[in-house]
Amino acid sequence: MLDKVVIANRGEIALRILRACREFGIKTVAVHSTADRELMHVRLADESVCIGPPQARDSYLNIPAIISAAEVTNAVAIHPGYGFLSENADFAEQVERSGFIFIGPKPETVRLLGDKVAAKAAMRRCGVPCVPGSEGAIGEDFDTIAKLARTIGYPVIIKAAAGGGGRGMRVVNTEASLHSAVAITRAEAEAAFGDGSLYLEKYLERPRHIEVQVLADNHGNVIHLGERDCSVQRRHQKVIEEAPAPGIDAETRARLGGMCVKACQDIGYRGAGTFEFLYQDGQFYFIEVNTRIQVEHPVTEMITGVDIVAQQLAIAAGEPLAYRQDEVTIKGHAIECRINAEHPRTFLPSPGRIKMFHLPGGPGVRIDTHVYSGYTVPPYYDSMIAKLIVSGATRVRALRRLENALSEMVVEGITTNQALHLDLLGDGDFHRGGVDIHYLERKIGID
Ligand code: ADP
Repeated sequence: MLDKVVIANRGEIALRILRACREFGIKTVAVHSTADRELMHVRLADESVCIGPPQARDSYLNIPAIISAAEVTNAVAIHPGYGFLSENADFAEQVERSGFIFIGPKPETVRLLGDKVAAKAAMRRCGVPCVPGSEGAIGEDFDTIAKLARTIGYPVIIKAAAGGGGRGMRVVNTEASLHSAVAITRAEAEAAFGDGSLYLEKYLERPRHIEVQVLADNHGNVIHLGERDCSVQRRHQKVIEEAPAPGIDAETRARLGGMCVKACQDIGYRGAGTFEFLYQDGQFYFIEVNTRIQVEHPVTEMITGVDIVAQQLAIAAGEPLAYRQDEVTIKGHAIECRINAEHPRTFLPSPGRIKMFHLPGGPGVRIDTHVYSGYTVPPYYDSMIAKLIVSGATRVRALRRLENALSEMVVEGITTNQALHLDLLGDGDFHRGGVDIHYLERKIGID
């Protein structure tokens, strides 16, 4: 197994990785900003290195500081978690060039799949169905773009090839607004990602977001762990996730999963990954691959019993996958609520000191959090403070457990979105299952 791992992240995922390392007897190095000295995983890690001031660009995005931390602590590998540098191909490359193991896919795979235009083209070649759209990046010639949009049919969505985290896209309903939409999205993409290349897709009006978890080792073994439904979103950010996806039968799961497995084999994928699809009228349309662990991975763990982070570590150590496809079975139903330090209606962030933190428990209840009573949520980072994950024999049982757990959970001193979650749990459409990606914004009134 690996001897010592640098955890290049913060918050709950850093603690999640630390716990997985400890199970294998792997030593851990926490790298943190000056604002994060009090983080739980920093306290628990074997060693910790302060890598810079609070702003992420000076610390969690500071590649030389992170690689130096690995050097001075004699670590062998770096786990990037999610967000920050996790999908940065330059980082992956520099990690490997400096002689460390990058816990993730090969740098060239991160690069290929991080470019959404290249990723879509690669997936098309693997036989994965994509949203109808431009074959590659759209050029500068407006007449060509307008012709393409007309062929696809309005509404269309313009997306930045280098976009991510729900940023860098714009829906266009009529040709009249196409020109300005292209110009604005291009300028935004250049400013935000340093890359103005855009592509165009059919805008699906009522799709669900369904994604498939895969695992691939260095020995040619690839498996999928079924799908998750992450359709409850606000501003393209997931709020509630569940597995399995309501209404997806075993045959569809096997077909969809099999397609992702084959694509992984075709492109030589390694590590954990997620294939994201939009699902509408019985059709799946590929949108992107996330080449990292995802926030919502626990719902898959709850129904399959597979520890995905442990598998990431084992794969990085060169071990073969611990499961064959026929050993993966799905049992029951799991749902995750992202608990954010934000107002449940205005969504304004609510950082500050948590005076009291009381967690629910009981069968089928899992909490992934770095927070504790007395912890101060800093204003610099993502507002997620905890993930409440429940499982039950059926979706209905899981929903009841979730409702109980949410009402048992007490966070005092800051505002959280618990009330929003409780509201959604009481909603008939959510209860029935299978809501589309606009459900939440429709319900709360688009802001
Ligand atoms: P990101 O990398 O920023 O997450 P994605 O391409 O994965 O971008 O898209 C994020 C979200 O945007 C999707 O989950 C979906 O809600 C919406 N979306 C993306 N493409 C389309 C499309 N063609 N039609 C409708 N909605 C879309």
